[in-house]
Amino acid sequence: MKIVCAEQALVEAELVGGLLACPSCQGTLGPWGHARERVTRRFLGDWRWRPRRARCRGCRGTHVLLAEVCLLRRQDEVEVIGAAIEAHVAGEGHRPIAARLGVPAGTVRGWLRRFDQRSELVRALFTRCAVGLDPELGPVLSAGSVVADALEAIAVAGRAWVLRFGPCPVWRICSRLTAGGLLSCNTSSLATGAW
Ligand SMILES: [Zn+2]
Repeated sequence: MKIVCAEQALVEAELVGGLLACPSCQGTLGPWGHARERVTRRFLGDWRWRPRRARCRGCRGTHVLLAEVCLLRRQDEVEVIGAAIEAHVAGEGHRPIAARLGVPAGTVRGWLRRFDQRSELVRALFTRCAVGLDPELGPVLSAGSVVADALEAIAVAGRAWVLRFGPCPVWRICSRLTAGGLLSCNTSSLATGAW
């Protein structure tokens, strides 16, 4: 699995042009069919799409190219999930957040619980990413709680990313830096998150 830009035409051009690197061995990925269709719930409405599959010319491994607007095994786009996390850290309950975003309350509660459980891991990962992206970065100050610190670390890493690579919404950067695994059970995606 590899996180790529949400513009499918651009991904296609990069894939055909040999510009995408294998997440396992950094070899060159080439086209290898498509994964099954999926529906991603976005702020702008439902998005039906078929992720591209790619095969590495080096290690022969195959990978699904997941758009950066997605997280692994989540139907809602990362910016919707991120908006819920921001409201949660600001003190709003999961029911009003769910009503505002038009998402089932149980789904939002699941995201927020998972984020709470993983917040120390998330804080540590994004702090490492921020320093990796910007070695001049000063210490990241505590925002007052573990979840607030995790959100602050995401923001700091996002700013460092933008300074280095140009404008990109922070939650999409978050998807890239965790290889889609921000809320996944498996921590290996967080451990190997790379840009
Ligand atoms: Zn490979």
